[in-house]
Amino acid sequence: MTEDQIQELDWYSCLHCGWTFKPERGYPEMNLPKGTDFNTVDADFKCPKCGAGLKDFALRDKPY
Ligand SMILES: [Zn+2]
Repeated sequence: MTEDQIQELDWYSCLHCGWTFKPERGYPEMNLPKGTDFNTVDADFKCPKCGAGLKDFALRDKPY
C-alpha cells in the first residue's frame, strides 16, 4: 500500500475515551501494522486504553 492509499483510510475513535486508530501509524502493539484498514480488524478488538469493543468506535473526521 502506498502512502497516498494509507492517507485515504478512515480514522476511528473510541466513543468512551477518545483513543483514535490512525492507519498511518497502525497499532503494532496489537499486530495492526501501518496501513491497516480499521474495517478489517478482528471482531474481538478492544480499545487499548479503556477496553471498549468495536461497536463503541465511530468514524472520525481527520484534522487535515
Ligand atoms: Zn477507549
